[in-house]
Parts: sequence; C-alpha cells; structure tokens
Amino acid sequence: MKAVQYREIGAAPEVVTVPDPEPGPGQVLLKVTAAGVCHSDIAVMSWPADQFPYPLPLTLGHEGVGTIAALGDGVSGSGLETGQSVAVYGPWGCGTCVKCAEGKENYCLRAAELGINPPGLGSPGAMAEYMIVDDPRHLVPIGDLDPVRTVPLTDAGLTPYHAIKRSLPKLVPGATVVVIGTGGLGHVAIQLLRALTSARVIALDVTEEKLALARTVGAHEAVLSDEYAADRIRELTGGTGAQVVLDFVGAQPTVATAGAAAAIDSDVTIVGIGGGALPVGFGVLPFNTTVTAPYWGSRSELAEVLDLAHAGAVDVHVETYTLDEAPLAYERLHAGKINGRAVILPQS
Ligand code: NAD
Ligand code: ZN
Ligand code: ZN
Repeated sequence: MKAVQYREIGAAPEVVTVPDPEPGPGQVLLKVTAAGVCHSDIAVMSWPADQFPYPLPLTLGHEGVGTIAALGDGVSGSGLETGQSVAVYGPWGCGTCVKCAEGKENYCLRAAELGINPPGLGSPGAMAEYMIVDDPRHLVPIGDLDPVRTVPLTDAGLTPYHAIKRSLPKLVPGATVVVIGTGGLGHVAIQLLRALTSARVIALDVTEEKLALARTVGAHEAVLSDEYAADRIRELTGGTGAQVVLDFVGAQPTVATAGAAAAIDSDVTIVGIGGGALPVGFGVLPFNTTVTAPYWGSRSELAEVLDLAHAGAVDVHVETYTLDEAPLAYERLHAGKINGRAVILPQS
C-alpha cells in the first residue's frame, strides 16, 4: 500500500510503498477514508536527531477516519463490525492506569514508560491506505457523518474542546474569550465556543484571509495579531481584558499577548506548541490568572465532540488532497496557506 512517511531527519515527507498491515490479536484494521494534516507534524519534522523521540521511518497522520476492514483475534464482541465508519481516538494510553480509567488516555501515566505512541506520532499513522488501531476502545462509530469533514474533529476539534471545557464556568454571558490563531484548531474552537457558550469571541490572526474565516465561523470581532492586539482587546472589553484566552500558536509573541489580554481571575490556555513561555508569579499576571498547557483530549470528550457534529453545531472548513499530494499539503500548511484544515483522501 501507499503511505506518507517522514523518513529522514530534516527531509520532506515522502509517498512510499510499504507492506499491507495485518491486524494482530486485539487490533483492528481500518481502510482509511480521510486523514487530517496537523501543524504539530511540522513541529515534529523540525526536531533535531538527538531530540527525535520516535523510530524512523514514521507513517504520518494522527487524525484518522476509516471503515473497518478486518478485526483481529479476540475483537469480536466489541460491537464493531466490518464496513462500519469509525473515527480514531489518537492519544492512546495503557488503558489501565488511573488517568486511563477516567478516559483521560491523553494523560496516561504509563504511556511513555511502556512505549505506547499515538498513530502518526510514533506508531504508524492514518496517512496510508490502511492503518492498524491497537484496541477497539480507540474507535468511535460516526454513522452517516461525512468522514472528510469529521476527521479533523479527532484533534482540531477534540483539542480545543478539552481546552474550552475546563473554562466553561468562566464563559458566562457578558464574558469575553480570545482565540489566538484561527487555523485548523482555532476555526473549530470559535464554532465550539459559539455552540457551547454565549461569551463574546475575539479572534486574532496574522492575515486578512484568516480573519475573514474567523468571522465566517462566528467570531464577533477579528483583530490583527500584532504588538497592539492586547490593547485592542482591553479597549473592546472596557479595560477589563478577557476572562479566557486560548492560544493556538503558543509562540513567545502570542503568549505575551495572551498574558497582556487576560482579565483578573481569568484562564490562559496555551495549546500551540510554538515554544513560548508565560511567567507566573505575584504581580506578574492579573490576580488569580491560571495558565495551563493541555494536551489533546479524553475519550469521552471525543464522543461529545462527535455528538456536537451530529447536531450540526460544527462545520469544519476543509481542503482535500490525494495521498500523492500530501507533501504539497504540508508545504502549504507550513507557508500559512491552508484555510481551515487540509485533509488527505488515501483512497482517491
Ligand atoms: P494551523 O497552521 O492550521 O493554524 C495556526 C494559525 O495560527 C494560522 O491560521 C496562522 O496564520 C496563525 N498564526 C501564526 N502566527 C500567528 C500569530 N503570531 N498570531 C496569531 N495567529 C498566528 O495549525 P493547527 O494545526 O491549528 O495547530 C495550531 C497549534 O496547535 C500548533 O502549534 C500545533 O502544533 C498545536 N497543537 C497542539 C495540540 C495540543 O494537544 N496541545 C494539539 C494539536 C495541535
Ligand atoms: Zn495534531
Ligand atoms: Zn494509562
């Protein structure tokens, strides 16, 4: 089968032919219908050899939807059937530690020690004609949802949902939430905020095209992300600042904006992995501001996000590419040219 692989440190991803995978005991084989392209892959492909944590070559793709092609020994009784359309929960854990018992496999206490890695981030991923899923518990049936517009919800939907959920008590009517970076994750975050809260949404990005998308998907205000952005947010909030700031870039200038735009008793959540850091200390940030950097989301949260999709509350903007075009999709993402999410269609 064909697969998109990162093969050599510093090199571009390549489309190669690899052996067809076969499901072992307890595993599920998916015929991949759609795989999302995440900016985290670009970060991963920029890491130097001495810090690279995964074996190479690595089949990319940590957002996957497919149809069940075969069930490994012992999987019968899971309720899954051949031909069913399913979304893959990506942050695989051990399944048995206390965090996994809560469904928070994204915070598994033992994954690193046991060498358990998500598909596309250590294990063979979804950018291939077929993929192996280690356990049926990682699959959520999606029914008649469109695989192409659903696949980004497994990360670009789940990650913002997890970030927003912790701050829901602060997103009361009259509150303001700032979304920094309105790309794959950010444009879904805006829709989730509009579906789940009545807070005012201020979106920040660096191009007019991205700000236009932010307005289309529901941002009340769209502001250029520059050194004046925090002042603009203070103006728009009558001097108070925002009760919640979600940073989907995480670079030094954006975390600085996030801290400067935060209100007293606010939540600042740094989702982007741009390497920025926001100092916390008495007098450094407004009183009682909490700052956190979450990772992905829990199993039950993925089910909740997919329920929102069934209810028509989210409409992911997608650009589609064939497997052969996947390297081009990464180039365009790197250049900031994707509006919404790029999705690879391995069967076309
Ligand atoms: P993306 O490229 O689709 O979107 C990023 C957006 O940020 C783009 O619209 C870009 O124009 C904008 N941007 C760039 N610089 C900016 C600035 N200075 N101010 C405002 N906007 C700016 O990327 P994505 O796939 O949505 O991922 C977003 C970030 O989240 C990445 O850093 C990614 O690695 C990270 N991520 C983290 C998790 C997690 O679990 N913490 C999960 C998925 C992705
Ligand atoms: Zn991702
Ligand atoms: Zn665990």
